[in-house]
Amino acid sequence: MRFRPTLVRNNSVWTRFQSLNSLSLLTRIKTRPIRAFPPRLGGQILGATFASDFFTIVNMFKSLAIGLRLLIMLSFCGLTASGQRYAHEREEWNKPFKPFRIAGNLYYVGATGVSAFLITTTEGSILIDGGLPETAPLIEKNISDLGFKITDIKYLLNSHAHFDHAGGLAELQRLSGAQMIASAGDSQTLRTGIDTVLGPSGSFPAIKIDRVISDNDTVQLGGMTLTAHLTPGHTRGSTTWTTRISENGKTYRVLFHSSTTVAANKLVNNHEYPNIISDYEASFAKFKKLSCDIFLAPHGSFFHLTEKLKKRAANNSNPFIDPNELQRFVNQSEMDFKRELREQKSKSERPPQN
Ligand SMILES: [Zn+2]
Repeated sequence: MRFRPTLVRNNSVWTRFQSLNSLSLLTRIKTRPIRAFPPRLGGQILGATFASDFFTIVNMFKSLAIGLRLLIMLSFCGLTASGQRYAHEREEWNKPFKPFRIAGNLYYVGATGVSAFLITTTEGSILIDGGLPETAPLIEKNISDLGFKITDIKYLLNSHAHFDHAGGLAELQRLSGAQMIASAGDSQTLRTGIDTVLGPSGSFPAIKIDRVISDNDTVQLGGMTLTAHLTPGHTRGSTTWTTRISENGKTYRVLFHSSTTVAANKLVNNHEYPNIISDYEASFAKFKKLSCDIFLAPHGSFFHLTEKLKKRAANNSNPFIDPNELQRFVNQSEMDFKRELREQKSKSERPPQN
């Protein structure tokens, strides 16, 4: 595993995952000499040479006991079926992606499927999102490939506290020494690394938070101002950030969307997050009042990252500048939310099947 113990200092589930991944236990099982079953075993075990089969049976029970112990440990960590839940997505999202300049002093430094944005200034830089835990080294490399230093990062921001956008923040905080700024709604998840909605498979290394922000609070550095817009629903503290970027004498309004997909969220009868529906609705209403020239989001697919890069290479324009994209995205996302809400409501109203 590529994670160091420091990365997992406050996350018991991840620490257990680490110790399992040290392969010590698995190696022990694999290398333990287990006698092969003799071909005559089927139906004839009682008639076989006593000494030989006695040891075979003893070894068989020993390996069964170890296997059972491993199974219990894995179940305890929630790492059997659920641990594999996002394995394919994680692999796809974390494929390396060549970093590039979006506009002015704004750069894409994330992986193929999970975003990370770097804003550089004369007084240091700001990083929005840290990808998955395994994305942190890619982000570090991307920043260095662009000619910047990770130690120049002064502030770390987060779109929302899910493992695919907050997972790498602890390691990036360790590497950069930057201050973590987060909303109150997402603070608990970030501080513990425990996602109560996604369960153990959504856990990630815990992050130390240096400043908690409220709606419309700002982060300032080297002449740049970033404004926080709380847009909860997807998580309790989902935060959309806005700023202005200058290039060739023009200023562009940039918006980093928090995400408003329903994902694994329970919308109906959610006792843990009773206001989830009204939060989503208020966030959609808020987005309708916002506008921007450059629309960015936590997943590249949300803002057509690869398609835009291809377009940019083909006709030398900047397809990232599109003042209508935010509202197109918001309308689609709201329709998806309403459909999901209807489906969840009709399922909850269906009488239980006997
Ligand atoms: Zn998410």
